[in-house]
This record gives sequence, structure tokens and C-alpha cells, in this order.
Amino acid sequence: MARRIFLLGLDGGSWNVFDHLFAHGVMPNFQKLCSEGVKGTLESTTPPVTPVAWTSLMTGANPGKHGIFAFRKTRPDNSYLPVPVNRMDMEVPTVFDYYREDPGFVCLNLPMSFPATELAGCMVTGMMTPQGQTDRAAHPSDQLDRFAAAGIDYVIDPKLQESAGIDPQDLFDGWKEAPEKFIGRLTRITQSRMDAVRLLMKDRDWSVFICVVVGTDRLQHLLWDEILEDGSKPITAAVWDYYRHLDDRLGRLMSDLHPDDVLMLVSDHGFVKTHGSFQTNEWLRRQGWLKKREAKKSPLYPVKVLLNRLGITRASLGRVLSEGQSSKLQLMASHIDWAGSQAFLSGPFAIRINLMDRETLGCVDPKDYDRLVDDIIVALGELKDQDGRPMISSAVRGQDIYHGDAGGQPGDVVFTFRDDLNFTAYAAELGGDLFRTDIAKKGDHRIDGIFAAWGGGIRNLEEEVRFSICDILPTVMHLNGRAVPGVCDGKVALGITEDDHSPDIDSNWKRFARSREAVSYSRDQEAEINERLKALGYLSDD
Ligand SMILES: [Zn+2]
Repeated sequence: MARRIFLLGLDGGSWNVFDHLFAHGVMPNFQKLCSEGVKGTLESTTPPVTPVAWTSLMTGANPGKHGIFAFRKTRPDNSYLPVPVNRMDMEVPTVFDYYREDPGFVCLNLPMSFPATELAGCMVTGMMTPQGQTDRAAHPSDQLDRFAAAGIDYVIDPKLQESAGIDPQDLFDGWKEAPEKFIGRLTRITQSRMDAVRLLMKDRDWSVFICVVVGTDRLQHLLWDEILEDGSKPITAAVWDYYRHLDDRLGRLMSDLHPDDVLMLVSDHGFVKTHGSFQTNEWLRRQGWLKKREAKKSPLYPVKVLLNRLGITRASLGRVLSEGQSSKLQLMASHIDWAGSQAFLSGPFAIRINLMDRETLGCVDPKDYDRLVDDIIVALGELKDQDGRPMISSAVRGQDIYHGDAGGQPGDVVFTFRDDLNFTAYAAELGGDLFRTDIAKKGDHRIDGIFAAWGGGIRNLEEEVRFSICDILPTVMHLNGRAVPGVCDGKVALGITEDDHSPDIDSNWKRFARSREAVSYSRDQEAEINERLKALGYLSDD
């Protein structure tokens, strides 16, 4: 039976947060949904970061097939100077291709869905959409105007600094002085998003509806400790109000759905308390695998000072230089001696070998690759806490976890910290402590996210289920009465419905593959997206 599916994505949704809020009566509708339907864990990608994970959700494929391994990808002319990724970088068809001709397909705010594509249904893009790109952010192109005409102040992806109403320069110091303002802004954005959902549910004869809320992720990064307190402090009460509003909208959504509709709740990754930042490049330097540029300051330092005085930034300088000139300048100005370095942090929790003939100034002979990868994995395993226990829960070869022919730049070594001793690994800076505890992030991602399903034909299961994020697209398509594309690594989540039957597999899925026009961001857009990623703590000044 073909059912309508509403897929509500909660970015960073995590049971350790929701169970705590359930216990305090903060999210009664969500709790009701879980107790009447199916509840379980959704296993994210490795690394469990937003663009990688949502891409696996929208393709049903592992990163080795879809080709997205981080927020950014390296450029052909300079493999140390990455640029932000978008949907056009994905190497297998996505939900937008499979549902292109279905007027009942609606998708709001899915991270990595930029640029909007011609389709019979409706879409508005999400995180990684450049500011001011409203023409490529929506299809039909006047969708944002339609929201405005209905009195909905729809915001695609707010800059954190905007949310807090403070100077971007003091984001992480400044926002703390006005957390209520920040929470209030995120609440209004979520309200408007759910108003837009309601409008489209009424206006359109929908069959698959996807909507993603990101306020959960933003709040958990910054207010982790406060969220998990008992509610007596004003700041905890204020942040719980966000979850209360979200739950209220979930309750309305549940009552707007027909009895045959399925409501599925998913997150791209879970969350956990983080203790600070692991300065991976500094660690590689101390291990002798990465070399700092000899001169105390780069040879371009005096030029940099002069340009700064004239108010010329790296981004504005980039506009007047050719790609080649600009990337050469970046290499010279880098604090890393690339030609003398064997390995470097290439993305979140990912170390890449500076391999000859692969990286711009690669110096590692391919015959030494295996030994070096093994040595790095062993050395990561030797990072110990005060009690002598290993801090890393896994350190593996990229080629052991990514399967497929995608290009892209997977880490040669990908590692994960223990859940109970989590550290982030996004920063590329050198010098200082190996473990920095003075970072603004108090919560960060973990692999275990959430899965819940409720509604038409969904069983009421006592025991908790466990699925992979790659299982979501096959499950949505199967419950929606479609065959599952053969390219998907994920499997249909059998066992959650009362009328289970084995799925049809579409081996002719290649007909959905579209030639991808390369959509690259302009230099300004690149700089702006990098700025946002920095504000979220995913990039450092390097
Ligand atoms: Zn996320």
C-alpha cells in the first residue's frame, strides 16, 4: 500500500537530550509518538557531520558512493585549499532525482539540497545555501514570495551571529550575554518553518514531505550543559521553551495528518557533551608527520599586514587575482610547510596522507603509504586519558569504511573519540595545547542519532530498533509504494509496519542520474559560507 510519508528531520536530534526532556514533561507529543509507534537509534555516517550524513539520507548511499566527506572539498589546483560542497558534488542520484516528476514531492530546509532544481513538486534549500541566493534556493522560484504573501517570515539558514543579534567578531563571547535573544530568534525561525509546512500541506496534494529543523543542533552545540539541567535556572527554562514550541508544532502536525499517513522522525547524528578540541595538526606536528613553516612568520607577512591596514581581506584580494595566483599565494602564506609534511587534517576527524602525485605538494612515496597509515592509527590509539584508557574509540582506514567509486577526498584515517570523553577535531591551527578546553562548543556530534515512526500501519513496538541513515531513503520510497533504487546501500526498515512485504529493487536506477552542471560558489559566497562554518566552530583560521 502506498502511503504518504512525512519525514521530519531534527538536526542533531539525540535521545540523551529528548529522554531527559521527556522525564521533565517538556515534550509530551513527541513522547506520545514514541509510545504509540516505533522508537530507535539511527546510526550516522563516519564522521557524523551534517553534510555527509544528510547526503547519505538523501541518496541512501555511503560516502564512498556519494562523494561527500566533509563540509568542503579540495580544489583541483590546490588540494590544501578546500571550497564548500553542494548537491551538485554528489555522484549518485538523490531523492530530488527520484521524485523529480512527482508533483506531490515537497522538501523544505534539507541541508546540502542547494541549488534548487527543476521539479514538478516544491523545494526550498537549507544549510550551505549562500546568503542572498534566493533565485536558486527555491522551486518554484517565487516560493519564498508566496510564503511572504501568506505572512510567513521564512528564513533559510540564519547566521548564528544574526540570531544572537551581535557582532560576528564576538560571536562566542558575545552571544552568552543575550542567550534568550538567540533562543527566541531560533524559536521564531522554527515557528515560521512549521507555518510554511502547514501552508504547503493545505495547498499541495503531497505524497512525500520532508522538512528539517536545525535549531536543535545550534542550541545543543552552545547550551549542552544547560539543556541537561533540571530546569530551575532561567537559562535552562528558556532553552526548554524552544523544545516546548517544537513539540507543540509536532503535536499540530500529528493532528493535521490523515490516519493512513506515516510520520517519521530522524536526525543526521546524535549529540554528546564535548570536552574541548583535539588539535589534530599540532598532534601530527609533535609526532613528526607535519612540519611548520620554518620562518616565524610567512614570507608574505609584511604584505599581509599592509593589506590588512588597507582593509583588503583574503576574500577581496581573491577577487582580483586569478585562481592560480590566489592558490599559490595561499600555499606561500600557509603556516604549514606542505612539501615537508607527510599528513594533515583534511576534514572533520579525517587525516589525509600527503601523497605524491595526488596532493599538490605531495611528498609521501606511494610505497610508504600503508606503513604511514598504520603508524598513525597506532599512534591515535596511544592517546590515553588520566586513567590510562584509550581516548579514541575507533581509528580506521578510510578505504575500509567507504565503498564505491566516488571521487572526493576521503580521509585516509578517520577517527572517533569515546562518547564519554568526546573532543572535537575540526581545528587546523598549530601550536598551543593538544587538547584545548577553552572552546565555545559544549556539545558535539556523535554517531547515534534518533529514529521514530508513527501513524498508518506503523507497529507499536516495545523493543527499540536500530537502523542506518542509509536506510531512510529506501524505507520512505518503499512505504510510498516505489521500488528501491539498486544503488542504495541502505535496506528497507522491515518490521516497523504491520503489512510488511519485501521491497522491489529498481536495478535500472541509472536512468535517474542527471548530468550535473558544476555549480560552484562565487568567491564572495565561498567566503561567506566559510565564515558561517567558522561561526559554527567547524573551521579554524588557517
Ligand atoms: Zn547536523
